[in-house]
This record gives sequence, structure tokens and C-alpha cells, in this order.
Amino acid sequence: MNSGMDSKEYAGQMAGFVEHWLGNPASRAVLKFAAARCPQCGRRIDLALRDFLGLSPKMCIKCKASSSVINRLLSFLIEKNNISRKDAEIAFADPMWRKGLSSVMEGIAEFGPKKPFTAFVPFLVVWNITRACNLSCKHCYESALVKDSDELNTEEALKAVDGLAEAGVAYLAISGGEPLVRKDLFEIIQRIRKNEMAFSIATNGTLLTRENARQLKSLGCLYAQVSLDGAKPLTHNRFRGSEAFERTIEGIKNAVSEGLLVGIAMTVTQHNYKEVPAALDLAEKLGAGLFMHYNFIPAGRGKEIIGLDISPEKREELLAWLAGQIGKRKIPVLSTAPQFSSACKKIGKPCALTHFDVISQDTKFGDSISFLADFVGGCGAGRLYMAMEPNGDFEPCVFMPIKIGNIRKDSLLETWHKNIALNKMRKREEFWGNCGICENRSACGGCRARAYGYFADVQGPDPGCIKNLEYWKRLKGESKEISLVAGVMPKHLP
Ligand code: SF4
Ligand code: SF4
Ligand SMILES: [Zn+2]
Repeated sequence: MNSGMDSKEYAGQMAGFVEHWLGNPASRAVLKFAAARCPQCGRRIDLALRDFLGLSPKMCIKCKASSSVINRLLSFLIEKNNISRKDAEIAFADPMWRKGLSSVMEGIAEFGPKKPFTAFVPFLVVWNITRACNLSCKHCYESALVKDSDELNTEEALKAVDGLAEAGVAYLAISGGEPLVRKDLFEIIQRIRKNEMAFSIATNGTLLTRENARQLKSLGCLYAQVSLDGAKPLTHNRFRGSEAFERTIEGIKNAVSEGLLVGIAMTVTQHNYKEVPAALDLAEKLGAGLFMHYNFIPAGRGKEIIGLDISPEKREELLAWLAGQIGKRKIPVLSTAPQFSSACKKIGKPCALTHFDVISQDTKFGDSISFLADFVGGCGAGRLYMAMEPNGDFEPCVFMPIKIGNIRKDSLLETWHKNIALNKMRKREEFWGNCGICENRSACGGCRARAYGYFADVQGPDPGCIKNLEYWKRLKGESKEISLVAGVMPKHLP
């Protein structure tokens, strides 16, 4: 590191440099050229990264020129950030990183260097691969039970995978329903891997046999996310049905013993709020690799138990406690509440950039990447990520039942670039309530699914945040007046 400058200052300076560089119209034009997709050769950024790795990809003369520009810029940034060339090569050898970086650079070229930024193509698609489920949990956002009559069949699902890969998606998070009830699941996963996309799976754990875990591991599953709603059988089973707890624990043990990384996901409501510390202890004891607090969102069957949502005060307390656990625990502690980044910042913990950000909890990186919070931007719906339903419907987030297209007939890229709801979600300055004027607007943005679930408006306030307390009170019938900090009166409030 340069003399007299700590990593935070240095990272800030680098961010300033990149912003300044991108703010210059001439460099933007260079980036547009370099980040284009060539009809002959493919994604130019990806080609340049392969070139960086010495893989000599086939390139036309224009692609060769862009590769040379990108490689010079990369070498400069790597050197200035004291990253060894070997480390950079290891990262770029992973197709997920290459695709991710391509989406970022293409996104900056297309949408500009905004805070937070929007990727050219969703980096991640959460695919609810089936609505069928062997359980019937009370808070299920997908109202899962039986298979939809229009669910994508095997052939259509394989075609969907190819389509998502062609658009440039880096990572598919398979969810449901219960994905493990789909007989063709492993065939679909094989196609995902053939297309060099990363994948993970979200499951209730009850069907995670050793054989299933072994197969997932051998196919390169990044991690299995298992839902656990409490540390006691009674708490979990109250939501998920009798004996679910025991079967889920068994599934977690199977996965851990097969070497599969397990993430414990706990949806917190008034029922299990007090059990969070014990559930985190249990996650560690079981050998899980991470613990994730899931924000309750009133979607699907969750709407029927909306009264169990925790208050903004309780959420604030919970997030502060979770942030305090970072570094004290053996495993990363995460939250899907986008306010988590400011909870971390408040107590000087490395900022969680977005839901699945475990990197910034690594002390090796810590400070040097926390400056990215404003770019990565908390809620990723419509900017970094979107969802796909069992029948191929595109949605901004799995918790937001707004159909924005369908893979059977619509282009993913066109939907991503032109859809009105997505574009509204990207304009945080137009959000109402405190989310529109908040000092954490770039790094957080509020959970758009909660805003939609409560106010039927993707630009509404997230009423789970302490800064939107007046809206929460209004929803609870405890307040007649809306008097927010800056006195912004929403036009749309019923
Ligand atoms: S007001 Fe909105 S943007 Fe600000 S911290 Fe709360 S949820 Fe996030
Ligand atoms: S809307 Fe945003 S914060 Fe809420 S669950 Fe979806 S991605 Fe997460
Ligand atoms: Zn070319």
C-alpha cells in the first residue's frame, strides 16, 4: 500500500478516479466500444479477460483493439490496487467472475456510472423452478404446494437455461417450491454447468439426502440454502408442519457431511424473533457455512400472516445485533434487509454490500471494498438481479409478484432494459417516504418488495425501516399524520 494512506482512503481515491474517468465523455465512448457485443466474436469484455488469461480467443480486428484497451486498463487498476496478477488470473479464470465483470462494465457503458449502478444483464436470476412442495409453510412467498399446469417442462427448462446463458447471466439461484421434488432437476443443473453458469439451491432441507447432497456438490453447487425458522422444533414446525424440524436438521447434517456449503436462512417474525441468537448458535454447531436473516415480506401466503411482521424498532435492534456478531462468529452473518449495510457501518463493521455478500466480511478485504456500498446499492432487484417463475414469467424479485415478461416469448435483455417497473425501481430519487431523500439511499434503497407488498407501489417506502416509522404507524392505524423528516408528502398514499 502507498505510504501514509490507509486502505479506505486509497480505495476511495481509486473509486474517485474510476468515477472521474467514466464521467469523461471520451472515456465513456471508449468503454461503449470496448464493452459492446460483437456479432462475430461475442462479449468483448469476456474476450478481453480470456486474452488476459493467455487463452488466445478468436477475435476480429475490432475485438482485438478493444481487448488491448481493456487489458491496459486492467493492468493499471490491478497494479494501483496492489493486487497480484496471479490473484487476478485466479478470479478471471472463474466464468462467474468474468461474466459478472462483463455485466458491470457493459452496464456502466449502457446506463452510465450511477450510484448505485445497474448491470447490463442481471448478474443473478433466482429461478423458482417449481411451485410443487412437500411442505406447506405459513409464510411461503410462493404459496407453494402443487405444480402449476403451465410449469416449464424439461425441454422448455433446458431452453430457458440456454437463453439465460446467452443473455450473459452469471448465476442461477434455484428455488421453489421445493426444487428437489423436480425429477429433472439434475438434468437442468447439468445444462446450467455446461453453460458455465454458477448455481446454488434453496431448499427446505427435508429431501437433502446424502445422495442428493453428493450430486449437488459434484456439480459445483456454490451452496445449499436451508430454511430454518427457529432453534426449537416447536418454533420451526409451527410454520412448516410436524416433524419438519427433525427432517431439516437431518438434511443439513447430510449436506455438511458431504462437504456442501450450507447457508441457514431464517425468516424472522414476531414468533421467532427471540430465537435468533439460539438459531445462530445452532447453525454454527451444525457446521453451516453462513447464517442469513431473511426479512419477512408480505407476499404469497406471507400476506395472511402480515400481522406477524416485526416493527421497525425491533428490526433496527435485530440488525444491530446481527452486525455485532460479524467477526465474533465462525461464520459470516448476513441479512436480506438492505438496511443491514448501515447497521454494519454504524458500529464500524465491514459493510455488507448486498444479500449474499460474504466477501466484505473477510478481514482480508474489509475496508478496501466497503467503498463499493454505494455502487452495489443494497436492494438489487431490477439492477443486479431478477426472478423467474416456474412458468417462465420474469419478475423483479421473487417476493414481488409483478409479471414483467416471460422467457417463452420475451427477450430477457429487452425486458431488463425497457420494462417500466424495473426502470422505476432504478430511480431512487423518485421514491417517496424517507427512502427518496435518505442519506443511505444509494447503499440501501429499502426493500422494494416490502414497499410493494405494503403500498402496492415499487417506489414506496420500506415500512420496516426506522426512518419510515411514520408510515409503519400509519399502516398500524397508530398515526393519522405523515410528518417525515423532510416533510415529503406521498402522492400515492391511500
Ligand atoms: S429510509 Fe429507505 S433508503 Fe433510508 S435506510 Fe431506510 S429503507 Fe434504506
Ligand atoms: S426487493 Fe430487494 S431487498 Fe427486497 S427481497 Fe428483493 S432484492 Fe431483496
Ligand atoms: Zn469481433
